[in-house]
Amino acid sequence: MSNKKRVVVLGAGVTGLSAAYRLSQNPDIEVHVFEKENEVGGLCRSFQDSGFILDYGPHKFYTLIDGVLDEMCKIMGDSFLTRDKSQNLYLKGKYFDFPLKITEMLTKFPPHKSAEILASFGVSAAKNIKNKTEPKNYEDFIIQKFGKSLYTQIFEPMANKMFGNPRQLDPELARVRISSPGLVSVIKQLLSIKKVDKTISAPTFHYPKYGFGMIPDRLREKSEANGVKFHLGVKVKELKLTQGSISSVAFEDKSGTLQTLSCDDVVYTIPMQTIADLIPSLSAEVRQASRFISFRHTIVYYYLLKSQPVLPAMWVFYPESRFRFGRLSEMTKFSPYTAPLGHTALMVDFTCDDLDPTWGMDDSQLGELLLDQLKPLKLFTRDKVIKSFSKRFRNFYPVYRIGYQERVEKIRSLEKELSNILFAGRLGDFNYNNSDQCFDMGYKAAEQIEKSREVGQAWGEIRHNRFEKYRIVD
Ligand SMILES: Cc1cc2nc3c(=O)[nH]c(=O)nc-3n(C[C@H](O)[C@H](O)[C@H](O)COP(=O)(O)OP(=O)(O)OC[C@H]3O[C@@H](n4cnc5c(N)ncnc54)[C@H](O)[C@@H]3O)c2cc1C
Repeated sequence: MSNKKRVVVLGAGVTGLSAAYRLSQNPDIEVHVFEKENEVGGLCRSFQDSGFILDYGPHKFYTLIDGVLDEMCKIMGDSFLTRDKSQNLYLKGKYFDFPLKITEMLTKFPPHKSAEILASFGVSAAKNIKNKTEPKNYEDFIIQKFGKSLYTQIFEPMANKMFGNPRQLDPELARVRISSPGLVSVIKQLLSIKKVDKTISAPTFHYPKYGFGMIPDRLREKSEANGVKFHLGVKVKELKLTQGSISSVAFEDKSGTLQTLSCDDVVYTIPMQTIADLIPSLSAEVRQASRFISFRHTIVYYYLLKSQPVLPAMWVFYPESRFRFGRLSEMTKFSPYTAPLGHTALMVDFTCDDLDPTWGMDDSQLGELLLDQLKPLKLFTRDKVIKSFSKRFRNFYPVYRIGYQERVEKIRSLEKELSNILFAGRLGDFNYNNSDQCFDMGYKAAEQIEKSREVGQAWGEIRHNRFEKYRIVD
């Protein structure tokens, strides 16, 4: 019998794969990855259709975390392209650079609008100086930083489309998600008092030649070469406890046979609330907490076009409520190798919950609705469309509803209680993370398992000192 430490990784997205790959470099550790789908990659997957390579929404690889880019470049080799980033915002019939530049705001907005934006910012700035209060919600945070006028024109409709009602959302979402500087900082940059910094907007980023899904595919290949065992298309049924710690995982394999595998440690990267289904003996409080937290879903509608590229930038945000979607992006702008010559693929993405009427629409209803809304943008005509269809993905966006933090902490307290489970990643740790941060979390989870016997004990401290400092950079 092997006396290696056995680690079970739940979920084969970037977080789980990174943990598995890093652990696989240690000959004293045996790694098993459990994934419900028949393929790896989670949100970072790509797929092929009619000669096109398509992602699950636009993905760029950009990081501010030391060491992550070097390691990813080693993994991806020369298939990792460097791209100059371009992103726009479309408002009142005009395209703007994003984050907004004050020069553009002053020249492209009608003069009375520019004056209104600056005046409303002035009011917020004065209030902050006189009596700065802690923002109660997402709306407060943005108004304090940018003023009411920009909030109502851009941030409020955008938040409604992406995250839900901004008055019900915790300000932490804005801290993590809005890296754009406030207007004071923008003015300082304009006057050259302060340099534009790369923590606010990525000037360039990396992208794999044949789709973002090459990243998880590479991680899988390398892990498998080092002996990691992948259990794909399985249903994880239970995490069984012995003396208060997880001692085995019960799962149904592809043929429907129930199996059990003993384990020493668990890296948990599947949706956080699922833990309540997997451990029957959890307390009522943990169960309640798991019912409170939720994710929003994403719909991506794809137009495969016989056309030259159609967008003015790699992706464009559409805050106005006349558009149901929040963003358009174009795969060929990320990599020209993702479409046949003379063709391009447009992705329309937006989020919703189960009750949203668009979630229940079939492809022809949704296609008609979107074509109608796209018409005034004059990007393409119907005769250029080779094929159009949607993909729907459940559980993409953690909802930072006010009150979520204490619930998430309640579930995380299982790390100390059980001592051999680590919550990690976007779904597993309920974090609004990008893939570079997931990669870092996966590696840190592996290091923690290598060096510690009771892995859950110190994980909270690492989260606090490292993961809670992550910020999303547009
Ligand atoms: C539209 C969109 C755009 C994005 N853009 C960017 C970007 O530009 N740059 C960037 O770096 N990041 C971006 N991200 C974020 C990035 O996709 C995620 O941070 C990352 O993919 C999360 O990885 P993960 O492994 O934590 O989770 P996931 O990728 O969700 O992996 C979890 C895995 O667990 C599996 N699973 C779920 N339930 C079970 C179960 N019960 N049993 C077994 N397996 C299960 C899932 O199938 C999945 O494979 C974007 C995300 C979205 C939605």
